[in-house]
Amino acid sequence: MMMNDVNATHSAAELDAADPLRLFRGQFHFPEVNGGEPIYFTGNSLGLMPKTARSYVEQELADWERLAVEGHIHAKNPWLPYHEFLAEQMAAIVGAKPGETVVMNSLTVNLHLLLVSFYRPTRARFKIVIEKGAFPSDQYAVASQIRFQEFDPGVALIELTPRDGESTLRTEDIIATIEREGASIALVMLGGVNYYTGQAFDMKAITAAGHKAGAVVGFDLAHAAGNLELKMHDWDVDFAAWCSYKYLNGGPGAVGGAFVHERHANSFDLPRFAGWWGHDKATRFLMGPEFHPLAGAEGWQISNPPILQMAALRASLEIFEEAGMTALRKKSEKLTGYLETFINEIDEPRISVITPRTLNNAAASSRSRSKIKKLH
Ligand SMILES: *Cc1c(COP(=O)(O)O)cnc(C)c1O
Repeated sequence: MMMNDVNATHSAAELDAADPLRLFRGQFHFPEVNGGEPIYFTGNSLGLMPKTARSYVEQELADWERLAVEGHIHAKNPWLPYHEFLAEQMAAIVGAKPGETVVMNSLTVNLHLLLVSFYRPTRARFKIVIEKGAFPSDQYAVASQIRFQEFDPGVALIELTPRDGESTLRTEDIIATIEREGASIALVMLGGVNYYTGQAFDMKAITAAGHKAGAVVGFDLAHAAGNLELKMHDWDVDFAAWCSYKYLNGGPGAVGGAFVHERHANSFDLPRFAGWWGHDKATRFLMGPEFHPLAGAEGWQISNPPILQMAALRASLEIFEEAGMTALRKKSEKLTGYLETFINEIDEPRISVITPRTLNNAAASSRSRSKIKKLH
């Protein structure tokens, strides 16, 4: 993921001065460490707090205090449609149409809800392709869904492993596995970016290969949303889920996101776990006995959402909209490239970079430090 396009002879201060995004740093609170401001490397775990988050949350507290139940309709940002205020900005982050995206629940919960609809095993076609080193929560979710459908994870899971001596998966190997196991694969579900190696997968090629084999293809975008430029719609991905507390700075336990491609928008025959928030808005409060799901991703909602959490996320998504993913990605490549030049200079055999140095270039990832080309 790192790009060697930074001339390391420029100082960080010079690069900063020429950086069109430089003022955005001031929009976030940094923790204090040893009396100073750290360089924050853990946005992949919990993103920094936008300074606007407090006032966004306080607005909802004030409306709750002032209006109580009437806040659903009369709050400055009415709570009833609150999730709709986030849909467009979230959709832009993952490259989706607004109707294909919904902000709801948390990541693993969303994976389960989507697997209920998109993992439809038959006796002939029941396997799931995942990464061997997938994030544990995803492994648990997928294995439990397989058992829920009364199959054996020992047989139904196809776990992709890097070649001997390599840290990351080669796209060609992923595709070869999909082609080889083709008719038995019900679902391909990988991370958009592996949480540990930082490898970004070629989601477009993997989706095409999965579809060619007759499988459904979904991605966990926990480490991709807000990190890479994504094109969920154009890449033709069937579904995706992600969290918002990592790269998206939505705060601890932030409300996650889900994507369902528009070709499934009206697939009301798909099984789904239902709740009133997924019900047709026009008739939701008639409280009728039958469930009529909303078209699109919204139809997978179950419960009315946590407004205070949504408010914090909204503060962050406004910053993302202003900065734009294209510019953010460009800067991210410069920053990681800059860091890489310094790591390359450390003469310490225990240190090596396992993250592929370019997007979709797994082959480069296994080079040992000694073989890394010096930049200057
Ligand atoms: C962070 C992360 C999770 C965490 O799941 P939650 O349901 O949000 O607690 C799951 N999967 C991946 C790949 C992650 O990176």
